[in-house]
Amino acid sequence: MKLSLVVPCYNEEGNVERFFSETNRVFANNVDDYEFVFVDDGSTDSTYSKLESIYVSNPQSDIQVLSFSRNFGKEAAMFAGLEKASGDCCVIIDCDLQHPPEKIVEMYRLWQEGYEVVEGVKDDRGSESAAHRFMANTFYGIISKMTGFDMADSSDFKLLDRKVVDTLNQMKERNVFFRALSFWVGFKKATV
Ligand code: UDP
Ligand code: MG
Repeated sequence: MKLSLVVPCYNEEGNVERFFSETNRVFANNVDDYEFVFVDDGSTDSTYSKLESIYVSNPQSDIQVLSFSRNFGKEAAMFAGLEKASGDCCVIIDCDLQHPPEKIVEMYRLWQEGYEVVEGVKDDRGSESAAHRFMANTFYGIISKMTGFDMADSSDFKLLDRKVVDTLNQMKERNVFFRALSFWVGFKKATV
């Protein structure tokens, strides 16, 4: 069973190599078949050439590199990556290692148990300022009221089963709040 990693990258020249090696390290002995789908979202630094050299120097790895003509934003990058991903499940993950790759292994196990959407949730909003926390709480308060989903601790760090990815790929909405959309489509959910 293949896992696709969809990795939106915007000006991540300092992180892409570390992300690649760290993920490979964590997956050794844990996940057999996986691919990287890197999406360079119109970076203005050397992100794209770093991705190219990862591709060239790792012919044994399963890697796709997509490149946008300009910066379209993370949501567009995630959707482009999901369209190209071929895995039986897909994990959307940030390139800057703020989403710990170890958690993907937990997500993968839950998927093997039958969960179709596995959400990465923040158990600690870390060092965010009080003002930021207030804004985040207000924002998610409103969104939760409107949608009926509690997304206060949610993030874009998710595992989606192939069925969910196919559903999202068929949807016409392209200017969306990805976090909400993957709740909205339904399916059997778990969190890590
Ligand atoms: N990102 C992207 N396009 C953008 C902004 C960000 O693809 O226009 C990527 C970025 O490279 C990272 C992820 O989206 O992999 C999250 O971005 P960032 O770390 O800036 O967000 P935050 O940590 O504030 O959630
Ligand atoms: Mg970040």
